[in-house]
Amino acid sequence: MSSLWLSDTKIFESIPVKYEIINDFSTDVCIIGAGIFGLSCGYYLTKLGYKVTILEKSDISSKTTGHTTGKITSQHGLFYDYLTNSYGQRFAKDYLNVNEDAIKNIKDIIDEENINCDFRYQNNYVYTTNQEEVPFIKKECDAVSNLDYNCEFVTKVGLPFEIAGAICFRKQAQFNPIKYIAGLSNCITKKSGEIYVNTIAIDIKMDGSDYITYANNHKITSKYVIIATHYPFINFPGFYFTKMYQSTSYLIAINPNKSLFNGMYISALDPVFSFRTAVYNKKEVLLIGGQGHKTGYPSSYQDTYGILEDIARKYYPSSEVLFKWNTRDCISLDKIPYIGSFSSSMPNIFVGTGFKKWGMTLSNVASNIIVDKICGNYNKYAYLFKPSRIKPIKNHDEFKNMLVQSVNSLLVDKFRRANMDFDQIANNSGSIIDVNGEKVGIYKDENGKIYAVKPICTHLGCLLSWNDVDKTWDCPCHGSRFNFDGKNLYDPAFRDLETYDL
Ligand SMILES: Cc1cc2nc3c(=O)[nH]c(=O)nc-3n(C[C@H](O)[C@H](O)[C@H](O)COP(=O)(O)OP(=O)(O)OC[C@H]3O[C@@H](n4cnc5c(N)ncnc54)[C@H](O)[C@@H]3O)c2cc1C
Repeated sequence: MSSLWLSDTKIFESIPVKYEIINDFSTDVCIIGAGIFGLSCGYYLTKLGYKVTILEKSDISSKTTGHTTGKITSQHGLFYDYLTNSYGQRFAKDYLNVNEDAIKNIKDIIDEENINCDFRYQNNYVYTTNQEEVPFIKKECDAVSNLDYNCEFVTKVGLPFEIAGAICFRKQAQFNPIKYIAGLSNCITKKSGEIYVNTIAIDIKMDGSDYITYANNHKITSKYVIIATHYPFINFPGFYFTKMYQSTSYLIAINPNKSLFNGMYISALDPVFSFRTAVYNKKEVLLIGGQGHKTGYPSSYQDTYGILEDIARKYYPSSEVLFKWNTRDCISLDKIPYIGSFSSSMPNIFVGTGFKKWGMTLSNVASNIIVDKICGNYNKYAYLFKPSRIKPIKNHDEFKNMLVQSVNSLLVDKFRRANMDFDQIANNSGSIIDVNGEKVGIYKDENGKIYAVKPICTHLGCLLSWNDVDKTWDCPCHGSRFNFDGKNLYDPAFRDLETYDL
């Protein structure tokens, strides 16, 4: 299902992307992945005169970035009390400052490059409707105030329902992320950066002081490589698959058929719901998001889009649903992204991942840190996100929660739909069946046509589970996703599933 942002299919038409690598070649920086992070790096580096090549497996920003909510904020849920307790005030303050800087950087790029992307300053609110949760919001207000940041506790907001309390950050922002991405891509290609689409990087090998990236049967040699694939596609070294999980959330865009409110909103605790306005066909529409769960955990239509549609019907009875979509993001065990050197054994390879559903600001933060590394400049915020950190998490309750979440996401069998007999699988549905002791993933389409795949993830061999909402095979371990016919859709896997001819 297309997102509102990607519904403008003409937006990338004028960008001179390349479809085929013809020869092996050299470049200064090879960036793998054309999401917001890869393109932000590409933007800054081409501006500094570096020769940049961006390799994109699919189309530009057609994965997480094309399906985001597009809020640009330093308020990442109730986060600063957690950061202060876990890492101390200086850490929390630096995290806040660097994300506030990112809002300004994004606005600067938009102004300097004249990018028309519906950017609008908005207040951002983390709210609760439950009196019992108000102390958590007040605690967050205290923590944020202690960082010398001017937040506010409020009990009245623009939402169409009563709240018990909210913490407000002023002058945050929203935009159309794909219009912004089109602007960045334009700047990159105008400054002779190259963007290759439909180009899958499958390996990176050291070659003296350079690296060779292998993609579409060709070799790209560069001094620097940036892994901007959302989830690193290289497993060893790095071992990122042991320290992150993926979480999926759902969004609908509705035409409310009545006027909307100001502000961007997210609820403080579970269940998390998110609201923001956007522009579609010159009219204001409302995005409602939520119903997050571990990627690979089977869910039903009613438990996902259904709940969001119920909210739309309740508060906007004459609304119509224009778009529905979902996507997922990587979350590290300590909730801090991994930004910097990919591994001590691979100098000059950099990574930015684990943006925990706040990658609009964090991708800008990450691109600045990595560009500084490439240019040999000191970045005073780099220490916050060091991928090599092994610091114990000081907040033990939080650590326990994280561990439970992480372990749950690794329990393959817990999430696997019970085996069925072949005949029990209804049309337009799928399941894993046993055939002579071998697992086979079966999907029957609306007309009963059968697709059979080996339901073993091509990333690290986990057993996949059937996702009946999107008709995909999803990995409960690391979040890779495959279409019902076995085609790889989402990282970290990049190879298709084996299929069986029937
Ligand atoms: C439901 C939801 C809502 C969100 N809302 C917000 C929000 O309001 N505000 C906010 O700040 N953040 C939000 N986020 C988070 C934000 O969208 C992400 O953090 C961000 O888009 C990630 O960008 P990226 O460039 O790292 O990844 P992507 O956009 O996924 O880009 C990675 C690219 O790499 C490519 N790739 C992968 N493997 C290979 C390979 N081997 N070779 C070549 N290319 C490859 C992929 O095809 C992809 O295009 C949200 C996330 C979710 C899940």
